[in-house]
Amino acid sequence: MDFSLTESERVLVDLCREFAQKEIATRAPVAWEEARCPTDLLREMGSLGLLGILIPEEWGGIGMSTVGFVAAMEQIGQADQSVAAAWQAHVTIGSLPLYLFGSDEQRERWLRPLAEGRALGAFGLTEPDAGSDARGIRTRAERRDGGWLINGVKTFISNAGTDMSFGVTLLARTESSEGQAPKFASFIVEKDTPGFTMGPKMRGIGWRGLDTRELYFDDVWIPEDRLVGDPDMGLRQFLQTLEVGRISIAALSLSLTQAVLDMGTDYAKQRVQFGQPIARFQAIQFKLADIATELEAARWLTYRAASLRDNGQPFLKEASMAKLKASRLATWAASEAVQIHGGLGYMLDSPVARFYCDAKVLEIGEGTNEIQHLVIARELGC
Ligand SMILES: Cc1cc2nc3c(=O)[nH]c(=O)nc-3n(C[C@H](O)[C@H](O)[C@H](O)COP(=O)(O)OP(=O)(O)OC[C@H]3O[C@@H](n4cnc5c(N)ncnc54)[C@H](O)[C@@H]3O)c2cc1C
Repeated sequence: MDFSLTESERVLVDLCREFAQKEIATRAPVAWEEARCPTDLLREMGSLGLLGILIPEEWGGIGMSTVGFVAAMEQIGQADQSVAAAWQAHVTIGSLPLYLFGSDEQRERWLRPLAEGRALGAFGLTEPDAGSDARGIRTRAERRDGGWLINGVKTFISNAGTDMSFGVTLLARTESSEGQAPKFASFIVEKDTPGFTMGPKMRGIGWRGLDTRELYFDDVWIPEDRLVGDPDMGLRQFLQTLEVGRISIAALSLSLTQAVLDMGTDYAKQRVQFGQPIARFQAIQFKLADIATELEAARWLTYRAASLRDNGQPFLKEASMAKLKASRLATWAASEAVQIHGGLGYMLDSPVARFYCDAKVLEIGEGTNEIQHLVIARELGC
């Protein structure tokens, strides 16, 4: 296997490295502190083509490979996890349902602005009573007056409430006959649609720059052209989208691990105790060596899943494995890096503390790690 980057992927990585170091690393920590989504940065990323990274040029994107996206994420996420989280939610779950399942009219009207970086996309699956159990959603869509009437509540929805959000692509339960399995369909709801409201930005342990909210749909009527894809296959469409989202969370985890490894190494070289840099102590060296080794392993899993997708092969199991391995590594590595920093690492003023706070959600979002285990076990035939 060879995951060396092509010329266009390398150019993209250089662009992302420069933007991440010059703009994101300097401005995003302020937004994290103020618990505000830095849409100014996201707009600038849009003007660089990054908001349409996985969407073909035909629809306003730059048509990058999944491998290229992972490599770009390694740069963006090292600078700031909230910006990277908002970006990845937009380019994968926020945009892909429209690209993969939308009609050409829908792509032109709703996907193009997302891909060109003029708007931010959101994906509405989770509800107060249905997270891991996606089939348990209660939001209903009923056929009414030539369109659909939506009622329900979504929770923890990212990117729906910013000044550049377009609305949400959501999953709803539709009518099914007595005794039949429930049916699900997905719909576009624009943000100024009557009856669609939202709660305040939620406060997390980390990802404080990410805009995550509860969304309310109270007799929201939408025309028929808002139905995305097959009216009976909405759940499958959403689950298929999440497969790419898992590669993306794995890439985000790689970036976090690289960031805390670098911080831990730099600090260990300069912090002197007992008359020598703590990097000379074997206990510290072993922590850093373990993180570096595990990072390399997680990196291979993630690039492999991305490469399978690029080659049109199934990647469900590999995406789950990459997400499971990389997110576990990120939370552990962040904790070890704080340990290397001692008391300083515990203080919110130190960047390593911010990355520590940002790590935990990687084991929860886009399918918890318990759910990744279930997916992998099912793929093994259990
Ligand atoms: C910051 C953030 C952003 C998010 N953004 C979005 C978004 O944009 N769109 C969206 O739709 N959702 C979003 N989510 C929701 C996220 O996908 C869910 O939180 C996640 O899927 C878990 O669902 P839950 O929180 O309801 O937990 P639950 O499903 O209630 O799970 C609780 C615990 O039980 C475990 N569990 C559940 N079922 C099983 C089982 N069968 N076997 C073993 N263990 C099990 C879980 O692993 C977990 O540990 C976001 C969440 C967060 C925190």
